[in-house]
Order: sequence, then C-alpha cells, then structure tokens
Amino acid sequence: MVSGGQTEVCVVGGGPGGMMTGLLLARQGISVVVLEKHQDFLRDFRGDTVHPSTFQVLEEIGLVDDFLRIPHTKAPAITMETATGPFTLTDFSRLPSRYPYMAFMPQWDVLDFLATAGRSHPAFTLVQGAEVTGLLKNGATVTGVRYRDAEGEHELTAKLVVAADGRNSVVRAAAGLRSVASRAPMDALWFRLSRAEGEKLPTVRAGKGFLIGCIDRGEYWQVVYMIPKGGYDRVRAAGLDAFRAAVSSIHGMFADRMAKEIQEWDDVKLLDVRIDRLRRWHRPGLVCIGDAAHAMSPAGGVGINLAVQDAVATSRILGPVLRSGRTPTPAELDQVRARRELPMRVVQLIQVHLLSGLYPSASRKGTDKPLVVRLCRRFPVLPRLLAHIIGLGLRPEHVHTGKGASHS
Ligand SMILES: Cc1cc2nc3c(=O)[nH]c(=O)nc-3n(C[C@H](O)[C@H](O)[C@H](O)COP(=O)(O)OP(=O)(O)OC[C@H]3O[C@@H](n4cnc5c(N)ncnc54)[C@H](O)[C@@H]3O)c2cc1C
Repeated sequence: MVSGGQTEVCVVGGGPGGMMTGLLLARQGISVVVLEKHQDFLRDFRGDTVHPSTFQVLEEIGLVDDFLRIPHTKAPAITMETATGPFTLTDFSRLPSRYPYMAFMPQWDVLDFLATAGRSHPAFTLVQGAEVTGLLKNGATVTGVRYRDAEGEHELTAKLVVAADGRNSVVRAAAGLRSVASRAPMDALWFRLSRAEGEKLPTVRAGKGFLIGCIDRGEYWQVVYMIPKGGYDRVRAAGLDAFRAAVSSIHGMFADRMAKEIQEWDDVKLLDVRIDRLRRWHRPGLVCIGDAAHAMSPAGGVGINLAVQDAVATSRILGPVLRSGRTPTPAELDQVRARRELPMRVVQLIQVHLLSGLYPSASRKGTDKPLVVRLCRRFPVLPRLLAHIIGLGLRPEHVHTGKGASHS
C-alpha cells in the first residue's frame, strides 16, 4: 500500500547540498523533509574538505564555533611533493577570510553536524533509509516524489522538490534533464592503510605517471591513488602484487602494510570520476543543485563547498517566495542556475584544462613538469588566485542579503 504525506519542500538527498538546503529553509520556518536513501552518513571515500566559503556560511548562521569543535586538520595551502621539488597549487593563507585554510574533516561528521542543527528547527525533518524512486507530476509540473523505506512505498507531495541526490541523480533523470559531460582525466582508487602515531606524509605526491593523496585520519591513512580514466581493468589485470608494488614505490613505508592490509580487490574502491553539468537545472516544481546539477571531479576538493554554495543561493532566492505561500515560478527557479552557473563552470574549466596534466594519463606520456606546475612556479600570484576561486568562489554566497533579510 502507498501512504501519503505533504510538505512545503522535499529535498532529495542528505549530502552536503541537501542537508544545508534543509537547514537553511527550516531556519526560515519553511517545512522541509530531507529524504536520504542511506540509514546513516557513515560512507567512506567521499569528499572530506571544507573550504573557507563553507566556514563563512556557518559563521553567518551562528554555528561556526560548534563546527570547529569537530576534529579536523587545517591546511593553509595545498602543497604537492613532486620530483622537481615541492609546489604550491593553492595558497589560502592570504585570503580575505577569518578561515584562511582548507580543513580536512570526515564528511560523515559534517553531515551529522548539519542534521543535528536541522533537527533543532521544528520545520526540519530528516528521513534516513528513504530512497526516492520517482516523481509525482501534474502535467509537466513536479508535485512531489515517490519513495520507499523499510515500511514500504510512500508518496510525498511538495510545492518544491530540490534534487540534491548527487551525480547519479534519479530525480534529474526522472525529470528528463540532460547533462553535458566533460572528459574527466582520471579515476580514483581509494583504500585505507593503518597509521602509526606521529607518522607524517605529504598530503599529495605527484610524479611521472602517478599522483597519490594521503589523508591523515588518526588511526589510519585514507589513501587515494589516481589512475588514467577507464584504466581500472588494466590495473586489475596487472594483479594485486603489481598494484601493491606501484603504491609502495611511491611511499616505501607502505610496503608491509600493502601486503598485510590490501588482501583482495574488495579492499580497494574504484571511484569513477565524472564532470558534467545540466544546461537546464529546473522543471516546474523542481530544481537541481550540487552534483545533481554539476558533477565535480575531486580535483581541488571543491565539490562539497560548491554544493553548499548552491544550497545557500537556493534558500536565499526561493525562501522568500515559499514564505509568502507561493510556489516558485519557473523563472524564479532558473535564478538559481543563473546565479550559480558561472562559478561552477569556471571551477570545471580549471579541473578539466589546468589540473588535468597532474594526473596519470593513458593518452600521453607522463611528465615531471605539468603545465600547472610550471605556471604556478613562474607566476606566484596563480596559487593565490586559485585559492580565491576554489576557497571562496567567484561569487561567494551569503545567507542574508542585507537589512531585514535575516532569519535567526
Ligand atoms: C573520488 C571523489 C573524491 C572527492 N573528494 C572531494 C573532496 O575531497 N572535497 C570535496 O569538496 N569534494 C570532493 N568530491 C566531490 C564531492 O564528493 C561532491 O561534489 C559533493 O559531495 C556533492 O555534494 P551533493 O550534496 O551535491 O551530493 P552528494 O554528496 O553525492 O550527496 C547526495 C546524497 O543523495 C543521496 N541519494 C542518492 N540517490 C538518492 C535517492 N534516490 N533517494 C534518496 N537519497 C539519495 C546519497 O546517498 C547522498 O547522501 C569528490 C568526488 C569524488 C568522486
């Protein structure tokens, strides 16, 4: 049997974009239901970087001090170790921000924090273990969603559906919104290796034909090893021993751990990196944000922060319309895209054109000196400019737009 419910806004997906949208709309007294298909946020190998723009938003809603209590490590710059010496890709330290750094923070902690903050507002509901399977429509207008949970099938009607269900968005497919893809240069293999206390490693090490990242997670290293796009079958065909040897040749101290802890391919997770964008982000009654509107590559660790910026713009643009009791018009929904498209496109262009040379590629020979390394060394302003675009964004979003617009 299908049961029914009603809300003002249904947010599909409890990732960074969806949780922040839910929180910001609920603060305005708008009833929001966030539907998240997983029972918890404990998924490994997701983005873990929080940039100055996100700290700024949390400061604006009075939550930054509590947020900063989540254990994290601060990186004032992204410095890579290369065969030709260290090279700074982005230097956040001189940003005009109270948070001039990037923080590494497990994404599940960030999402738990946003969920707790959301639940302090009566208008906020988070339903976990609720997978959206389709849209409810009245003609061409989206009027809600169908979802299933442990109790069965349900329908939830809403004035507005916000699709924040990530790069494999079911909602954008059900709405018939088509994406334009750019070629991502790499795929990523993620795995964990134990870490001894006090052990230090460069966050990123790059060289001819390889790039490896090691995030310090206290008791373990979360390791990402980049491979050429579509190269996973070749890596597997070469065998686990060859993979262990490749990683150990970069960080010799991992040799024993690779042998003991990487026992089978199930210990290694493939992430198919994708970069795409919707031309149109809305249908009547529906708007897409975050990776559902524009899948981001992990390069620059910017995806979480762009999704949060989309959430801020969405709640600021559409919140007043919803508070007035109206359903946003298609033109109002399109304002979200109009506001967010440029900053997102610029980051994607940087990911596709400027940063691609850092990654191992099947189509060209590896080099010790990719273009971006040469440019950053030659023009010291470039790492600061990149920090600005990546850390704050070309169009930083604020929760309030001025006097009289605040909702505490
Ligand atoms: C390998 C890799 C590493 C990355 N590293 C970083 C990084 O370090 N820093 C960074 O900022 N970005 C990183 N990114 C990008 C980043 O993860 C995304 O850009 C960001 O998470 C997008 O946020 P979102 O809220 O739009 O979507 P997501 O984070 O993808 O969240 C979508 C949510 O929707 C839920 N969902 C999906 N389908 C349904 C459904 N049918 N019903 C209900 N719920 C559903 C999912 O369970 C998920 O919780 C990385 C990406 C990849 C691929």
